[in-house]
This record gives sequence, C-alpha cells and structure tokens, in this order.
Amino acid sequence: MSRDLDVLVVGGGAIGICSAYFLAEQGLQVTIVEQKEVASGCSGANAGLIVPSHSIPLASPGVLCQGLKWMLKPESPFYIKLRFSPILFNWLRRFRKASKYQQMLLGLHTLRDLNYSSLELFDHIISSESLSCDYRKDGWLLAYRTDKGLNKALDEARLLEDHDIDVKILSADDTLKMEPMLRDEITGGIFFPDDAHLDPERFVLALTELLQERGVNIHRQTKVLALEISNGHIKIARTTKEDFKPKQVVLAAGAWSPELVQNLSHELLVQPAKGYSISVKKPDSYPSLPLYLGEAKVAVTPLEDILRFAGTMELSGMDFSINRRRVDAIMHAARDYLRELEVLEIIDTRYGFRPCTPDGLPLIERFPGYDNLIVATGHCMLGISLAPITGKLVSQLVRGQTPDMDLSSFRVDRFR
Ligand SMILES: Cc1cc2nc3c(=O)[nH]c(=O)nc-3n(C[C@H](O)[C@H](O)[C@H](O)COP(=O)(O)OP(=O)(O)OC[C@H]3O[C@@H](n4cnc5c(N)ncnc54)[C@H](O)[C@@H]3O)c2cc1C
Repeated sequence: MSRDLDVLVVGGGAIGICSAYFLAEQGLQVTIVEQKEVASGCSGANAGLIVPSHSIPLASPGVLCQGLKWMLKPESPFYIKLRFSPILFNWLRRFRKASKYQQMLLGLHTLRDLNYSSLELFDHIISSESLSCDYRKDGWLLAYRTDKGLNKALDEARLLEDHDIDVKILSADDTLKMEPMLRDEITGGIFFPDDAHLDPERFVLALTELLQERGVNIHRQTKVLALEISNGHIKIARTTKEDFKPKQVVLAAGAWSPELVQNLSHELLVQPAKGYSISVKKPDSYPSLPLYLGEAKVAVTPLEDILRFAGTMELSGMDFSINRRRVDAIMHAARDYLRELEVLEIIDTRYGFRPCTPDGLPLIERFPGYDNLIVATGHCMLGISLAPITGKLVSQLVRGQTPDMDLSSFRVDRFR
C-alpha cells in the first residue's frame, strides 16, 4: 500500500528543508524523507557563511593545475584522489572546460545574482519567523600571510568589484586593526561587507521545527531506495520504511542525488567533495569577525558558544573516513594565523560531502523527460548561501509558475 501525497522532498539538508518551507507556504501538503537525521549531511558540518563574495566558481583558470600539484601533498587544502572512475574522468573533463575565463565569468554573474537574492530571503525568513540561529551581518575578512597569496586574492577581489560586489582592500595594519587576533605576519587583507554568517545546523533545525508545527511530515531514518518510473512519471518512491505515491518529487539528496536517478534518462554530474569542520569551545579570546585564512583556505566562524574551523576539499568519492592529517592541517593553519589559540577544547570534528558540479553552478530544473521530478542539488561550496533562493525557485517549479530567475544555467543536461 503506498501513501498518496502532494510533494515528497528527498533529503533533509538545507536545500530540502528550504524547499519544503516554500512549498508549505504555498499550501501544499509536503513530506520529507531523510535517511539519517535532519542536517546530518553537509548542511550541519559547514562554516555557515553566506557569501556573495564567493561568487567566483571553483572552476577557474589555473585551479586544475594547482589541484594536480597539491595532489602530492597529503595536508593540502585541495586534493583529487586519482582512481579508475569514468564518472570522475568525465567530471574533470567538464571541470577543465568550465575553467575557461569566459565561462567562469558567466558563472560569476549567475552566482552573484543567486547569492544576493538568497541573502534578501535570509533576512526575510529569519526575521519574519523569528528563527534563532545566530544570524549576523558582520561581513567576512580574508587575511593573507604571503605577497603571492595576497596578490592572487587581490586579482579576484578586483574582478568581484568589477561585478558590483562590495570590496574593501586593506593594508596589513588595517587588517590587524580590524581583527587584532591575527598574527603580525599578515601582509594584507580583503573585507567583504555584504557577507553574513549563521549557525547552519541551528538554522536548518529551527526551520524544521517550524515546518512540523505547520503540518509537514518528516520521516527520519528513512532512506529512499528507488524511484519507480512509468512513462516519464515517478509513480512510487520506495523507502526502507514505507512506499509513497507523490504527485511531485523534489530530489534534494545532496551528494547522494546521482544514485537515485541512475535508471533515468540523464546522469547527474555531481561529485562529492569532502570537507571538514572542527568546532571548539569558544576560548577566552576569539576572533570577533568570521575570517578566511587565505593561503591555507580555512574558514573561521565565531558562533554563539563555539568557534568553528572549516576547510579542505577532497575529490575522493564517498569516503567516510576522517583523514587526521587534513584535520590537523586545518588546526595548524589556525595557529599560524591567529594568536592565543594554544589550548583549544575540541567539541566536534565532522565532515560533509559538498555536492559539486563541474562548473560550480547548481542543478535546479524539472528533470528532462519526467513530468513530476524536480532536481535541486549541486550547490558545491554555496549550499547554505543559496538554500533560500533554491527553495523558492523549487516551489515555483512545483507550482508551474514562472520562476523569479532564468534557470537555463542550472539545466541538468548542460554537460552532455
Ligand atoms: C567544510 C565545509 C564548509 C562549508 N562551508 C560553507 C559555507 O560557509 N557556506 C555555504 O554556503 N556552504 C558551505 N559549504 C557547502 C554546503 O555545506 C553544502 O553545499 C550544502 O550543505 C549542501 O546542502 P544539501 O541540502 O544539498 O546537501 P546535504 O546537507 O548533504 O543534505 C542531503 C541530505 O540528503 C540525505 N539523503 C541522501 N540520500 C538519501 C536517500 N536516498 N533517502 C533519504 N535521504 C537521503 C542525506 O542524509 C542528507 O542529509 C561547506 C561545506 C563543507 C564540507
């Protein structure tokens, strides 16, 4: 016996929960299935930065060469584990293509527009729903220890400035004045005043609580095993607990999404890119601003009771192990850039799989050839930043409305 419902959302991460929020707001009867716990995936394990300043896609000139050099260093921030995998090979081929300057610029425009729309929605949702999630609009300070690192970052900052993203370029002295916990070796910094941050897990959980109050069903510890199709229509979603017969399905299963469409007409070109976050009890002295430790590529986010360090990007497939050398490299970087962090009480070390497309843009579309399946994944390094706008666009697709934005850049078949 299958249960009939309006919309089934697969995945209880930021994207699934924000989609459910906007769908429920439209009066639809929504059910969410999550294989573990809400926010147990990438959406709980990240830095919580809402960053229009991060609108340059990862695929940009020179990145692949740098990645190949870093492959030889086990503690490097970007790592590709080479293995026989036609899917990885195809992904890297597309990544290389997307790294061309003109394509990177198109990606930058698109991500900037998505980011600013999402930021407005964060303001609206958090204030109108009185969500308690430590949301702050303090900007984001990037700090560099070498001239080489700083100069590369300045090129990117100027590019962002040319594309209407507010940037403040700072001398070493001004960087230290802005954040006195940085060490004197800092050569300079860049400040992005428009950026914000929050506690990502608290945001997702607070929204989930609200959804439950509004009648959204949430099935935890329930894994979707298969989407059964007939004539271009998802008929039944089989799960480990019960079967559902939804009118519409939203696939928001993050880095796991490709598994669920293996039997459909198109593959989803999404690779899991593992990253770590280490939360420590807030020490007596801590940075007041969210930071980016430039050369080490480590984000530092001060939250209510914790200080969180996050970094590394490993293209190593669904590898569920914790690589101690990489975790240690994050903590070493913290001490290299910041003073007074000698004794830290680690509360939690987590990892998450960023769902990465080759061009760094998400996949948001009605799945080609299927009348009742909407895909919302592939947000790479920006899944928290872009969750509200994605949720809104998904709800418009489900309702058959014209989306607020042109979705052609987010097509599933763009990598064919
Ligand atoms: C270290 C690190 C730092 C980051 N920092 C930032 C940041 O500062 N700002 C930012 O914007 N982004 C950041 N990101 C990226 C961001 O965390 C992700 O893009 C985002 O969380 C992806 O959300 P999601 O909902 O698509 O995926 P997830 O959060 O992974 O959610 C997918 C969910 O689907 C569930 N699921 C999977 N398969 C099934 C199934 N078959 N049945 C039922 N449920 C299923 C999973 O259990 C999971 O809970 C960071 C990522 C990492 C790793």
